[in-house]
Amino acid sequence: MHRPDQLARLADSSEKWDILIIGGGATGLAVAVDAASRGYRTALLEQADFSESTSSKSTKLIHGGVRYLRSGEIGLVRESLRERGRLLRNAPRLVKPLDFVVPAYRWHERFYYGAGLTLYDLLAGREGLGATGHPGAAGVAERVPNLRIEGLRGGTLYQDGQFDDARLAVAMARTAAARGAAVVNHCRVEELVKENGRLTGVVVRDGVTGRDHRLEGKVIVNATGVFTDSVRRMDEPGAEGVIRPSQGIHLVLDRRFLGGDTAVMIPKTEDGRVLFAIPWKNRVLLGTTDTEPVPVELHPRAREEEIEYLLRHAGRYLREAPERGDVRAIFAGLRPLVSPPESGGASSAKLSRSHSIFLSDGGLLTITGGKWTTCRQMAEEAVDRAASLGDLPKRPCQTADLTLLDESSADAVEAAGESGLLDEALPYRFSDVERAVREEMALTLDDVLSRRTRATFLDEAAARRCAPAVAAKMAEMLGRDEAWIAGEIARMEERLG
Ligand SMILES: Cc1cc2nc3c(=O)[nH]c(=O)nc-3n(C[C@H](O)[C@H](O)[C@H](O)COP(=O)(O)OP(=O)(O)OC[C@H]3O[C@@H](n4cnc5c(N)ncnc54)[C@H](O)[C@@H]3O)c2cc1C
Repeated sequence: MHRPDQLARLADSSEKWDILIIGGGATGLAVAVDAASRGYRTALLEQADFSESTSSKSTKLIHGGVRYLRSGEIGLVRESLRERGRLLRNAPRLVKPLDFVVPAYRWHERFYYGAGLTLYDLLAGREGLGATGHPGAAGVAERVPNLRIEGLRGGTLYQDGQFDDARLAVAMARTAAARGAAVVNHCRVEELVKENGRLTGVVVRDGVTGRDHRLEGKVIVNATGVFTDSVRRMDEPGAEGVIRPSQGIHLVLDRRFLGGDTAVMIPKTEDGRVLFAIPWKNRVLLGTTDTEPVPVELHPRAREEEIEYLLRHAGRYLREAPERGDVRAIFAGLRPLVSPPESGGASSAKLSRSHSIFLSDGGLLTITGGKWTTCRQMAEEAVDRAASLGDLPKRPCQTADLTLLDESSADAVEAAGESGLLDEALPYRFSDVERAVREEMALTLDDVLSRRTRATFLDEAAARRCAPAVAAKMAEMLGRDEAWIAGEIARMEERLG
């Protein structure tokens, strides 16, 4: 996947696109994979890096969503469990099963959660990952050595999927490109082009050269997550907003705060939220929050009260309670929740996580909401709609069993031992940087340290330590000077705050 080749296709005015996709997060990338694999001429335009917005800041679960059972969203859970099975098969190196335990501190919780999770497993049908178990207190403590044991009555054991969100995004970009799509990061759609009231294309600005390209497309898909309304307003300036962003943050802790390979799920904290503590890349992710109202931003910041909330609640369930100084990294993301006018002032936690498709009078096809887990299904529906909208030849969806190109850098590190590591606290090497620049369209220091590797997500101090050397390596490969290196480091510092 080479950015100059991809850009050259955008610059070639003889290219006429069937489907132009705005947004390179989970949704847009899934649409690109689907459309290209059906043989439609497809281009995807991402203003920042692939998955740079919400899609790199998830809880990293490919899951049915146990908590949606409580809100009675059985259809959404069933659909998500089916998609979980597909992703485990289609990206087996990036999506893996993970054991979860729900600890019970009251007797009735054991039966209540046990029954709920047995239903969860039944809903998965043939896609089930293993029967729900009911370990006693000793069994739970053995799996999660740092769990508080006073009052522990036992728990429920179940399985879900876990993944590396930004790496899956790269895998999807590569898959779409391999199927003939042009996928370009750091290219912002500035304008929608209309003729006689109908959309006919977009004007896109290359973030590197500043050059504009005008592209023609039969269908324009708006897959811009929390930015959905800003693109809808390029089409209809007065359009009423449909997105209500809700912020969720995660804290990254040392592995000892769980002590094992089993994740913990607390289905209902005292204020009714779900709390996860999940082993991930030799660290623990603790999350998440549900904060609103929040402004729409590419890089939202965690608020102090969110950090305190997570530490306080973790302290209720963990023997060694994490403190502020134990936090190695923090990341915050915005859920693109769809708020139909009839939802009134419902809290964001109560808004559905299912997706929505809207078609404007000018022909802008917007797909938004949903989850990483369901992005393939969302894309299938969007491309079906796009095909009839653009009068494209009808072709069936190909992605249910389509293997994604899911090479993962962490695997390579394990194979190669510790030589050439970026930092002793990080599982990445300089060869990962080289590959990111050469083959994965990484252009900025943050592309490499946040999404091709996950350095800033695992350990901010370690990412800062290796930043000068990584930027120097990138500058050598990209033909950049000292000023570029200094600028990239300053931008990364600014983002980490
Ligand atoms: C805290 C949190 C935890 C989550 N955990 C999970 C989980 O564990 N499992 C799960 O399945 N789901 C999870 N989700 C949900 C999931 O992450 C999102 O549903 C998904 O990432 C949304 O993807 P998207 O492509 O719609 O949006 P985004 O990732 O925001 O992508 C939209 C893209 O559009 C680009 N864009 C905007 N305007 C323009 C323009 N003018 N030109 C070009 N590009 C543009 C943006 O830069 C952005 O990259 C979580 C969400 C949050 C916030």
